[in-house]
Amino acid sequence: MITIALSKGRIFEETTPLLAAAGIHALENPESSRKLILPTNREDVRLIIVRATDVPTYVQYGAADLGIAGKDVLDEHGGEGLYQPLDLNIAKCKMMVAVRDGFDYEACIRQGARLKVVTKYVKTAREHFAAKGMHVDLIKLYGSMELGPLVGLADAIVDLVSTGGTLRANQLKAVEEIGVISSRLVVNQASLKLNRTQLQPIIDSFAQAIQ
Ligand code: ATP
Ligand code: MG
Repeated sequence: MITIALSKGRIFEETTPLLAAAGIHALENPESSRKLILPTNREDVRLIIVRATDVPTYVQYGAADLGIAGKDVLDEHGGEGLYQPLDLNIAKCKMMVAVRDGFDYEACIRQGARLKVVTKYVKTAREHFAAKGMHVDLIKLYGSMELGPLVGLADAIVDLVSTGGTLRANQLKAVEEIGVISSRLVVNQASLKLNRTQLQPIIDSFAQAIQ
């Protein structure tokens, strides 16, 4: 049995055409089903529905053979035990630093001021500011990072931005790009060695579909 770990929402939506290219169709919609294990039209393939941040963990420990996860999530996880053969070019956005509209980020950097930053992406943020030689106090949040600067919890946020609509709606502005984000196919390294005859055709179909 091949197990593929996916998260609901945009990743599942954008993955559906890729799965179809590999001849894999979920028999139930994860958005409406309460099942966490979804059978597919193929008896030898099942999908498991997990939190986006948990996808690398399931694949790392071999509970799933394949998974699809954002680069944001993979950077935080570290990628241990994972083979990442494909950038799927889906769920594209950017990791950005943002501050309140009136906040002078450049002046802050020039003066070497100590910045308070809220983020879900603590490792990414720590590495980014360290590389710039900036001193920051990082505060871990699990969502709604945009609120931090508005209520005095932080000066800046590190978060994903696609259209910028959420930033604008909360009087924030992006001031720095940390990196471009898209979703990657991740494969359990041991599983690929053991089950290459089953896994390689799926990986190849994905590769073809994204071209
Ligand atoms: P939850 O929203 O339930 O807390 P989550 O934030 O982990 O979970 P999603 O918001 O569905 O889940 O994000 C899943 C992945 O989609 C992220 O890891 C990222 O790679 C990508 N993503 C997140 N936000 C955007 C966006 N605005 N545009 C494009 N891709 C995004
Ligand atoms: Mg989200």
